[in-house]
Amino acid sequence: MSIQSQKQARWRIDTDLLIPGRGDPIRHATLVYTTDDGEARGQILYAGPLSAVPDAYVSVPCIAHVPVLMPGMWDCHVHLFSDASGNLDALATLPHSLSGMRSARDVAATVNAGFTSLREMGGYGIDFHAAIDEAWIPGPRIYSAGAPISQTAGHGDLHTVPLEVLQDTIKHGLPLCVVDGVDECTKAVRAQIRRGAKVIKIMATGGVMSRIDSPRAAQFTRAELEAMVGEATRTDLSVAAHAHGTEGIVAALKAGVKTIEHGSYLTPEAIELMKEKKAMLVATRCVHVWGVRNPGNMPVESYRKILAVDKANAKSYEAAIKAGIKCALGTDLGMSKAGTDFYHGMNGREFGFAIDAGMTPLQAIEAGTTNGPEMLGPQAPRSGQLKKGYDADLIALSESPLERIGVLAEVDKITHVWKGGKVMKMPGKPVGFV
Ligand SMILES: [Zn+2]
Repeated sequence: MSIQSQKQARWRIDTDLLIPGRGDPIRHATLVYTTDDGEARGQILYAGPLSAVPDAYVSVPCIAHVPVLMPGMWDCHVHLFSDASGNLDALATLPHSLSGMRSARDVAATVNAGFTSLREMGGYGIDFHAAIDEAWIPGPRIYSAGAPISQTAGHGDLHTVPLEVLQDTIKHGLPLCVVDGVDECTKAVRAQIRRGAKVIKIMATGGVMSRIDSPRAAQFTRAELEAMVGEATRTDLSVAAHAHGTEGIVAALKAGVKTIEHGSYLTPEAIELMKEKKAMLVATRCVHVWGVRNPGNMPVESYRKILAVDKANAKSYEAAIKAGIKCALGTDLGMSKAGTDFYHGMNGREFGFAIDAGMTPLQAIEAGTTNGPEMLGPQAPRSGQLKKGYDADLIALSESPLERIGVLAEVDKITHVWKGGKVMKMPGKPVGFV
């Protein structure tokens, strides 16, 4: 039976090792699933020992026997802005059609690397995910924040672009948002909801790639933070805060933010508060490590900032893991420049950095699969686990990541990718454009 001619309802994949995402791996296992038929999402019907397959599935045709099967991976912090320069201010003059064309290749590279879901923390994915959902171009599922919400002179502002020019470009579709005061903040959240956001992203401190602000400086007032979280919460959306500095992290948590992005200057008190609020962390080591190693890829001011932030970020990540903070993996990748460290498709390197920070291979895999959807709070899809009723988003590997985690960053070792039970990649047939 050809793996390509999938039209029927039920299929089975046998595997030497099934890694479910959460829980213990299972040897000599099988997984039975239905395919996405355009109406219902392809779902897992059974995942467990081959010896215990329910009678109803015994005669389901087996389409592949693979060494390792695990959930499609989640990258919880990416940007689909299609910047190719490393200078974010250039976004103001980037034609949207060019962004769309570049992004088509970016998302194909992402799914080819085994990532079947992206939590996009700002970018054009909010608009063009429809092209993927319609199977017009191959790509992962995209859960987008739309425009990240920033104050004037904040991390989401483009500091060298005249403010009036930037606001005009935003009006014409650039997914950024620069607002001040409670009323504008409230309206900004509503605008992202209207555009289809699955999560709200706010800038609670300065950052590295924005020119003039300090990553340690808190941004937005308490009233503004509370207004944005209140508005999002009423619509069952979780709020993610870009936050490096301690003061901004604490203010965001007190306002009800559920996920801290970067979390570079975590003090013991901030870690305690994260625990108390049941907040999660996405440390984004990739962008820090590769940023330090590639000085030519960003403006000089940004490079100076990243040298300090990287060290703090590594320490905070270790401390958070030790304290038992729930983490998900995110890279902050976002450059449309194939061949660089920041390019889409390099996402799997985040697993190695999670191990460096103190996770076991199994913990890192849980953080890069099962914990991903949990970052979306009430909007979390049933995804990221090989478990009955979950999305049939799966990857097969030629080698076990429990023995060598680096395999998750080696695109040629990720032999198969299924999304909603549909084959996206198989040996000799990578995902298009790459
Ligand atoms: Zn980011």
